[in-house]
Amino acid sequence: MAEVENVIIVGSGPAGYTAALYTARANLEPLVIEGFMWGGLLQQTTEVENYPGFPGGIMGPEMMQHFRDQAERFGARLITDQATAVHLGTEPGAEHRVFVGDREYRARSVILAMGAEHKKLCVGGEEELAGRGVSYCATCDAAFFKGSRTLVVGGGDSAMEEAIFLSKFASAVTVVHRRAEFRASSIMLERARSRPNIELLTPYVVEEFVRGDDGALARARLRQVETGETREIEVQGAFVAVGHEPQSALVEGQVDTDPEGYVLTEGKSTRTNRPGVFAAGDLVDFTYRQAVTAAGTGCQAALDAEWYLRDTPEVPTPEGLPEGDLAEAQWAPPAGAGQLVAPDAASQPSRS
Ligand code: NDP
Repeated sequence: MAEVENVIIVGSGPAGYTAALYTARANLEPLVIEGFMWGGLLQQTTEVENYPGFPGGIMGPEMMQHFRDQAERFGARLITDQATAVHLGTEPGAEHRVFVGDREYRARSVILAMGAEHKKLCVGGEEELAGRGVSYCATCDAAFFKGSRTLVVGGGDSAMEEAIFLSKFASAVTVVHRRAEFRASSIMLERARSRPNIELLTPYVVEEFVRGDDGALARARLRQVETGETREIEVQGAFVAVGHEPQSALVEGQVDTDPEGYVLTEGKSTRTNRPGVFAAGDLVDFTYRQAVTAAGTGCQAALDAEWYLRDTPEVPTPEGLPEGDLAEAQWAPPAGAGQLVAPDAASQPSRS
């Protein structure tokens, strides 16, 4: 039988690599199943201007390379492959199993950090024309649309970022948003508004992406939300930027999630309902969703895992962990707390 790992981390965005860094520095020799497309959504970003410590900004992929290198420097072991199945134990001390194809890895604790993926519009032509005009990443695909007419769907910061980036290549960018008010921050909205080739069109939704004779995207049919009037505009590229979906399918039915699939954690900890299983980053958080907040919860998950391994009587304490009973103090819930709670929907911004 293969050795039982102290901790397996599934996922490799800011949360996963930060959890790897901290567990590596705690001598837990973490194993990270980082996926083929390691680095998470920041791999598809251009300049990151809001990560503290980089006054001049840093490119997303470069930042993720730094995260990865730093975790490796302290002994994190990386598997650049997809986790295909996860079987989580139900009792304190139970082993958890993570599969990468036929290969099985066993662990005393697991940190889930699979992040979130781009949400789809689910309209006609979207799936069929993906890669043939419909895209979810301007950073990746904008250069294909030099001098073209393009469309961006969405009203958040991502949509503005996509539009601004795209406007450097495309002749025209129409941002289509379903409401008159934008969710994007003022600074991003102003930047988009100041570009001469960006037009903001509201309140409209895309009804269909229409294929041309050459098999690629040729037009988008739009509907005015209030009047119901429809119109078609010619576009060669359409970029969908309407938010994200948590990648929790791997643990569906095993850990508690909210109705949209975000993993629920207990109080301010990263503990899921399964003993020894922790969750961090965009997989949990639909409110803040920043690289820096994901990294913060990755750190929390690492500490929670460390305390679990040290202080759970059923789990042999890994060599190299210090003695002590920090966890009891850290985890002691205030009176009346300690239930798994779904985020208060009423106090959260809409996610659909
Ligand atoms: P958001 O959830 O903020 O915005 C999603 C947008 O898509 C909303 O305007 C929403 O409309 C719209 N939308 C959702 N579903 C549909 C649908 N089915 N049809 C049409 N429109 C739809 O996601 P973002 O990805 O923009 O941002 C996520 C987080 O990342 C935010 O916190 C943001 O600030 C941050 N971010 C920061 C950046 C930066 O600072 N440089 C860059 C990119 C993101 P409605 O408003 O009506 O709900």
